[in-house]
Amino acid sequence: MSVLLVIAGPSGVGKGTIVRRLLERNPEMWLSISATTRKSRSGEEHGREYWFLSPEEFEQQRDAGQFLESFNVFDAKYGTPRGPVEERLAAGQDVVFEIDVKGAQAIKAAYPEALTIFIKPPSREVLRKRLHDRDPSADADELDRRLAEADAEEALATAFDHTVVNDDLDRAVEEVQAAVDAART
Ligand code: 5GP
Repeated sequence: MSVLLVIAGPSGVGKGTIVRRLLERNPEMWLSISATTRKSRSGEEHGREYWFLSPEEFEQQRDAGQFLESFNVFDAKYGTPRGPVEERLAAGQDVVFEIDVKGAQAIKAAYPEALTIFIKPPSREVLRKRLHDRDPSADADELDRRLAEADAEEALATAFDHTVVNDDLDRAVEEVQAAVDAART
């Protein structure tokens, strides 16, 4: 049975690292590439981390019903392209989504069989440091805004099938893997 795995949690919590490890361990898993209107960060490539779209392109695709879900996160728009997901599911492949909490809820509404996992930071201090390290140009107000967003997301975590604390990466990956294996049986 194929698995639809939704990994959500605050920005900077380490979702990407967990997902990369899972993809290494489960070569049959396919990661959904989201579309976004935010500017690419250094090292990011169009079609690898994201499909980087102009606001006009994004709106056009959204209005044409091409996204499974789409939301504003911070000041940019993010959306999950529908076509590739439907193709992989039809082919019986596992699909992984790395998205925000609202997006996770929308995927769960569209696919109730989806396995939703919320990744939590070990503490607020750790999250603040990770956010700063990832984007050193972000000022204190920006970091506060992202932390407030993280608090709001955490308040919604109870609706998820599992919550995993990312204090130890290996253990966190094991927990996610165990949930995936259990969903298959
Ligand atoms: P970042 O800009 O740091 O890559 O991502 C910001 C937030 O947007 C993260 O929480 C990320 O998981 C979320 N995100 C990425 N792609 C999507 C998407 O397709 N839909 C939704 N709803 N959120 C997304």
